[in-house]
Amino acid sequence: MIPDFEYVIPVLVIGGGACGCIAALSAHETGAQVLLVEQDERPMGSTGMSQGLICAAGTKAQAAKGIEDSADRYFEDIMAKTKGLTDPVLARAIADHSGPTVDWMVESQDLPWQLDTGFRPVYGNSTFRVHGWRGHGGQDMVDLLHARIADAGIDILLGAKLVEVHADETGLIHGVTLERRDGARELVGCKTLILACGGFAANRAMVAQHMPEVIHARNNGHEGSQGTGIVIARQLGAALGDMGAYQGYAMLTDPQGISVPPGVPVEGGVLVNVDGNRFTNEVEDIAGMVHPVLAQPGDHVWVVYDARIEAAVEYIPEMQQLIALNAPRKADTLADLARQINVPAAALTATLAEARTAQSEDRADRLGRAWGTDLPPIAPYRALKVIGAIYHTQGGLQIDGTARVLREDGTPLPNLFAGGGAARSVSGPAHWGYLPAMGLATAVTFGRLAGLKAATLAHETADP
Ligand SMILES: Cc1cc2nc3c(=O)[nH]c(=O)nc-3n(C[C@H](O)[C@H](O)[C@H](O)COP(=O)(O)OP(=O)(O)OC[C@H]3O[C@@H](n4cnc5c(N)ncnc54)[C@H](O)[C@@H]3O)c2cc1C
Repeated sequence: MIPDFEYVIPVLVIGGGACGCIAALSAHETGAQVLLVEQDERPMGSTGMSQGLICAAGTKAQAAKGIEDSADRYFEDIMAKTKGLTDPVLARAIADHSGPTVDWMVESQDLPWQLDTGFRPVYGNSTFRVHGWRGHGGQDMVDLLHARIADAGIDILLGAKLVEVHADETGLIHGVTLERRDGARELVGCKTLILACGGFAANRAMVAQHMPEVIHARNNGHEGSQGTGIVIARQLGAALGDMGAYQGYAMLTDPQGISVPPGVPVEGGVLVNVDGNRFTNEVEDIAGMVHPVLAQPGDHVWVVYDARIEAAVEYIPEMQQLIALNAPRKADTLADLARQINVPAAALTATLAEARTAQSEDRADRLGRAWGTDLPPIAPYRALKVIGAIYHTQGGLQIDGTARVLREDGTPLPNLFAGGGAARSVSGPAHWGYLPAMGLATAVTFGRLAGLKAATLAHETADP
């Protein structure tokens, strides 16, 4: 039975990460009344743990740097990276709307995202299209988004968790039950509901069911990624897509738990196992590289780089944190580095020599890495101890190109939307289809589409 709701919110958004904030700001912009609900007292989410990087095509920031890009080119890159196995409707929506979304963030919301020219076109992006807030990370992004929410006067409930959705036999949602930290429950009616409550990487049962191959890998995502939105919408008949897709990451420093920025391998760094050998092409697959790392002997590998590479990526907050913690091992000779990281010096020397020879002969090395003008590490050396981990999931609720949640038969549920970690992304069915910075691209783009569409629907819906 549908309970009585004391008040009805036109656009109710669950989750205070990038997707939820962008959805709330977008709906509010159209004049809709919005309530944003977040379970934590201090919003963080996976967005807060991220580097705040967003993959978007055709932006004004790209044009300002002379980078030619287009929605069609982005679409082709997504389809190529996912071997044609992603949902083309969603790929098209991301390709078409990510650029305008980032432009809107910059111009209408005064969010200072620029093209990160340090993030070169690798791992599947055919041109420079990763945008970030230079010198700032994910928590800065969350804090700034919440400042904009406050500036706009959008209502927000912190420390309130979605635990139940109340829908009639047609699937129309009339409202939700929220639970406070002390266990108190309250009913909130809504005309439209946006699930922006993240993925399920922290839900071990769901990981075991959908991606058993990484059940023993460390979860380095946010503990709030429990898949609540996915489970609740499933009860309403929502379809799921690509539940086996996720971003693994091969370079989580141990013990610091800080990500080594992708720029380190991209600029010339290599991964070396405890036997002193390289084992993978470090610039091929940002997410899939976790598997070769997990397959190595011992419980860790090393990222070996040099002072030049360190200088090139020092603008990134994670690298600044690692340096401040004195995490990188430093050595003037390979023999000293080998001793410090406890790998055989002869193997380490041969490993780097092979890469240097391939680079100087302008050919791919035995692992398929084409070095071009990038240089393998030279003295003075640096090394960071790393492990493989799972960062965030990429499967979830099946949505259409406007972020409406779909049933198994492809028809939309009447007033339910989803985006970001809660929804199916465009990374294909497994771990190898992830383009860099796609997590936040889907969060902000589908957040914006969901906010706009939900607001339109709410305006059209008569008051109860
Ligand atoms: C270490 C790390 C680095 C990353 N770096 C990048 C990057 O640079 N670029 C990129 O594109 N992607 C990156 N990602 C992925 C990216 O962070 C996510 O894809 C993105 O943040 C998802 O946004 P979201 O808003 O959907 O989810 P989240 O940011 O996780 O927000 C969901 C929110 O919902 C709340 N919530 C959950 N359940 C409930 C409930 N029942 N009721 C109320 N609230 C609830 C959570 O507390 C959370 O605050 C990274 C991920 C990690 C872990």
